[in-house]
Formats: sequence, structure tokens, C-alpha cells
Amino acid sequence: MKPVRNGLGIVALRSFHEHAVICQIKGRIVSAATVWRYWETEARLAENCFRYSAERYLNPEGEIGQYANHACDPNAGIIKQHRGLWLKAIADIAAGDEVTHDYSTLLGVDDVWKMRCNCGAARCRRWVRHVATLPATVVRRYRTLGVIPGFIQT
Ligand SMILES: [Zn+2]
Repeated sequence: MKPVRNGLGIVALRSFHEHAVICQIKGRIVSAATVWRYWETEARLAENCFRYSAERYLNPEGEIGQYANHACDPNAGIIKQHRGLWLKAIADIAAGDEVTHDYSTLLGVDDVWKMRCNCGAARCRRWVRHVATLPATVVRRYRTLGVIPGFIQT
């Protein structure tokens, strides 16, 4: 973790080839109701949560996933396997690169959360919203790469 464009982020200490699993996103599994309670008390906690299943989220506070930043043209994605969430390279990543994923891949159509984007990509979408708002070509590519988990409603 070190300073990147938008605050703190995950920076690769070594290179990863496309399709390599980088690390597990660890954290506490919490209910959707808990995430909504976070919204009322400390929104930052809710914003950091990863969708884990239809009804549950993963709160990565204190773990590396807390620093995972969004990018509209990311070099990694989130996969679910062995009951865990994992960060997987979807492009070759060089040592020193920030590791990013597209938050929209974990936002189902039932997720109302959205965020303004300042990722710096040439094709930055300016707003990050649920997966159904992505261009069809982007969704196809993410599906081919396996980084839209099956529990995400599209
Ligand atoms: Zn962007």
C-alpha cells in the first residue's frame, strides 16, 4: 500500500501475468443490513465493502482490500472461489503498478451505490454505477475474463 492517484492504493511489489491470482481479499462477512447501518453511521465503511453473495458483503477493514481502488480501465478483477474473493490480474502487471479493478463488476442492478470517478483513464465513465450501466463490449470482456461473479444480478 502506498500513495497513488486517489489517496492510498495497492501497488504490485512484483510483476503478475494476465490471469494470475494476486491475493485474497480478506475481511469480515457482513449482512446487507449491516452495510446499510454503516451508511447511516460511517459511510466510508460501506463504501469499502465488497459484494460477497446475493445477501452478504465483505468488509475488508484492516486488510489489503481496504485499499483496492476502482479504475474504468483496470488491470485486475475480483473472482469468487473457494468461498473467498480473490484479486486476479486481467492484464500484465509490472512491479510498481497500482492494482485496480472495476467496482461496477461487483455492483448488481439491485445495488444503488454510485461514485464519481477520477481514475484518469482515457475512457473514464465519470460515474461508477451498477454493472448493467457498463457498455456491452466491456461486460462481454469482463465475462470472458471471469470477473463478474455469478451472484451479481445483471
Ligand atoms: Zn474512471
